Amino acid sequence: MDDSINNAAHDSEVHYCAVHPQRDTELRCNRCDRYMCIDCAQRTPVGYTCRECVRGHENKFYQGTIIDYALVAAVSAVGGALTVIVTSLAGGFILIGFIIAPSIGGAAAQIALQITGRRRGRQSGTVSAGALLLGGIAGSCFLIGTVNLFALIFLALAASASFARFKMTI
Ligand SMILES: [Zn+2]
Ligand SMILES: [Zn+2]
Repeated sequence: MDDSINNAAHDSEVHYCAVHPQRDTELRCNRCDRYMCIDCAQRTPVGYTCRECVRGHENKFYQGTIIDYALVAAVSAVGGALTVIVTSLAGGFILIGFIIAPSIGGAAAQIALQITGRRRGRQSGTVSAGALLLGGIAGSCFLIGTVNLFALIFLALAASASFARFKMTI
């Protein structure tokens, strides 16, 4: 009973935009609940959101730091070296390489995402793919003394798999 009275009293109050205190409004942000005027509201698929929450949401998706890039590069380089080792161990079984290489690339990206708390920068995919290629080429030169065509093909497969993983939003 008291609640309905309180709500009625609450509803009759005049509210002002959190950014523009001179503008009264009944519009509220669907994320942070603050009052906002029509100029401050941004239409999103799930309703009206204030500018700050929209920006916060974008930053959350693209908030990778230099350290994150370094971690992504390190994990991907190891993934590249692993790709070369595993596919060369498979030796004549070329088909295995075609199956294993993308899995290693995808797994490297997955691990990189996990240790960086799923933060990613706009270039995470490129950094991962590049590091994977370089790591693989370096690994191949170190282990076999050369980079053969198949190693390059497998590395390209692994790199595109890691790149694709970073483009996914989960
Ligand atoms: Zn908000
Ligand atoms: Zn406003």
